[in-house]
Amino acid sequence: MSKRRTRNRLPELLQLEGLIERSNFKANQETFIELQGHSFPLYSVEVRPFKPGLPTVIFTGGVHGIERIGAQVLLAYMDVLASKIPWDSTLQHQLDALNIVFVPIVNPGGMYLNTRANPKGVDLMRNAPIEAEINPPIFGGGQRISAKLPWYCGDTKHGLELENQTLMNVVERYAQQSPFTITLDCHSGFGLRDHLWFPYAYRKRPIAVLDKLYALKLLFDCTYPHHEYVFEPQSLSYITHGDLWDYIYKRHKNANESVLLPLTLEMGSWNWVKKHPIQLLSFTGLFNPIVPHRQRRVLRRHLILFDFVCSAAIAYKKWIPKQKQTRQMFQAGKQYWYKSRP
Ligand SMILES: [Zn+2]
Repeated sequence: MSKRRTRNRLPELLQLEGLIERSNFKANQETFIELQGHSFPLYSVEVRPFKPGLPTVIFTGGVHGIERIGAQVLLAYMDVLASKIPWDSTLQHQLDALNIVFVPIVNPGGMYLNTRANPKGVDLMRNAPIEAEINPPIFGGGQRISAKLPWYCGDTKHGLELENQTLMNVVERYAQQSPFTITLDCHSGFGLRDHLWFPYAYRKRPIAVLDKLYALKLLFDCTYPHHEYVFEPQSLSYITHGDLWDYIYKRHKNANESVLLPLTLEMGSWNWVKKHPIQLLSFTGLFNPIVPHRQRRVLRRHLILFDFVCSAAIAYKKWIPKQKQTRQMFQAGKQYWYKSRP
């Protein structure tokens, strides 16, 4: 099959390569995923060449191949940036103070096959060497029995899957050179509402940077009081083994002074199904908006969030708690997320 025809089965990759061609983005082919005689590049893309010392935002998507909308919302945002950079002086100034990096298609093989897992049957968000502190749910929590069953963790004794190792290398490479980094990983599928999750997934006890995450939540609530995201630790929804962001965060914290805040956007796909129940008949329809006007709405819906994350990263010194506030903000976050719930 020709390169073009192969890409036609992966339109998001075609779109990404078109964007790279028509913009001044700096694209790196981090590795290649070999599948059925084809070789799919796993790209990281710097909006402008990376500058050490500046805060950084890393947008990632397509970790679960079936959740195509995660890659699509990022491609839509990249398209906006590519169109605005030549004329929007506010954005040009922002990019003097911020690195923006995209890894929009982490699992091209899974996306090509239209599966949640990678081509080896491994669920990339259950693949890190990290055990849940309490028993996770049978469905969704991760299992080590068989790649033929969903939520397979893979064999972590032999290291991470290539896609995960590559993503982790990219995040570590940039986060180690930045004083402050936010990652935002885009998924779909859980619940009726859009969630903004942060670690941990493996335990119910709070993360050390809870003060900063609570300050970020307050900043978001004050700036956009009508937003409808549920901003909370993932463990309030469910516990899992092997969450990659738990692992990346822990490794970073153990080796660096700089701040890393990992966020996951989980777009609530049940709402799309509720409004268009025939989607239940298609596996893809469980995770993606099928009706064109709804898809366009989803592609617009998160642009404010993406812009907010970038502005917050640039101005991080203005809102992250300092000295005495750190403890107070940590306690306030703990009270809000971990104590006041029934
Ligand atoms: Zn997902």
